[in-house]
Amino acid sequence: MNEIVENIAAIRQRIDKACRSAGRDPKEVKLLLATKTVAPDRILAAIRAGYPLIAENKVQELKEKYEALQEEPHDNHFIGHLQSNKIKEILRCDVRCVQSLDRLSLAQKLQQRLEFEDKHIDAFIQVNTSGEESKFGAKPEDALTLTREVAKLDRIHIKGLMTIGLFSAETEKVRRCFKLLKNIQQEIIAENIPGVEMKELSMGMSGDLETAIEEGSTIVRVGTAIFGQRQYPDSYYWHEGR
Ligand SMILES: *Cc1c(COP(=O)(O)O)cnc(C)c1O
Repeated sequence: MNEIVENIAAIRQRIDKACRSAGRDPKEVKLLLATKTVAPDRILAAIRAGYPLIAENKVQELKEKYEALQEEPHDNHFIGHLQSNKIKEILRCDVRCVQSLDRLSLAQKLQQRLEFEDKHIDAFIQVNTSGEESKFGAKPEDALTLTREVAKLDRIHIKGLMTIGLFSAETEKVRRCFKLLKNIQQEIIAENIPGVEMKELSMGMSGDLETAIEEGSTIVRVGTAIFGQRQYPDSYYWHEGR
């Protein structure tokens, strides 16, 4: 467990250093723990170290860990592909923000259920900035329209955008994804859509958080660098047809 605390400290240092070299205040960037495949006791250790912002990719895992995590107050986001028939379950598990809202049909069903339960939820619009067919997310050219439509749903509060950068060792190609998300954010801000906040940019992971911070990230989502390598390839979590 000490190792987790040490890893978090090292990541926080990486974040702070990246902020300083980009001329940004380290307070502008939050660390979100991507906890897929991680057991509850290890997640609890991270929360106790002072990092209560956590997120799962799969509803099944969210449900399995829900009880055990009640021991410590924390803030639950959802970052995986969400099927509309799982909406009830994420609400039952107190997810406060869906970072992976990528289509209107999902938002409409979410709104219906929120009305029924008299609840509200935060959301980020997920954008597929890498152009990879297999990845989830709205197309960049559709993000503004989707934001406009979701803004009409009064139970869903849009707070920003999320993307998964291209998985590549070529930094400049990865950077293009993050720049694109920033541009879309600026475009949406300029539209002044009632009820829409665009403060948050959720981008950057273990391998590319420095680049994301240089391009304006406000939330980096880190798993591997804190909890170690996962047993499953990321394609299991990110791609269609599984
Ligand atoms: C797993 C995951 C992360 C974290 O990735 P690491 O490379 O393990 O840091 C971030 N975002 C999403 C959507 C993920 O599924």
